[in-house]
Amino acid sequence: MTQDCIFCRIKSGDIPSEMLFMDDLSFVIRDINPVAPIHLLIIPIEHVTDISTSSQDQFDLLSHLMMVAKRMVDRHKDLTDNGWRLVINQGRFSGQEIPHLHLHILGGQKLGPIA
Ligand code: AMP
Ligand code: ZN
Repeated sequence: MTQDCIFCRIKSGDIPSEMLFMDDLSFVIRDINPVAPIHLLIIPIEHVTDISTSSQDQFDLLSHLMMVAKRMVDRHKDLTDNGWRLVINQGRFSGQEIPHLHLHILGGQKLGPIA
């Protein structure tokens, strides 16, 4: 938990947000500023800042987040029928706003090219 992190504050209930899913490692909310009709955020409870290849725990966490993403996709017929995109922004050049690891699920319309 980091006091100035928006996602940590959502997790602690400090900032209100509807939890679409939650388990012991992660939670899912709608993006407050959606760039597609369906725009969900898969967020680890732990304040992980960077993807690292040095820890098995992180591999396990990332695969868990992917599994949760797929579960969320399976709840939306539009996504399973028509497709979707998974995005992780990492660092300054990606435009990352919140330095707490998260996956974006985007869909609900034909998406533009990446970048
Ligand atoms: P990123 O640019 O990958 O760091 O994405 C951060 C995302 O968090 C952006 O798409 C924001 O719109 C979204 N966001 C910021 N504040 C909130 C909030 N309070 N609730 C939901 N999503 C948020
Ligand atoms: Zn955080």
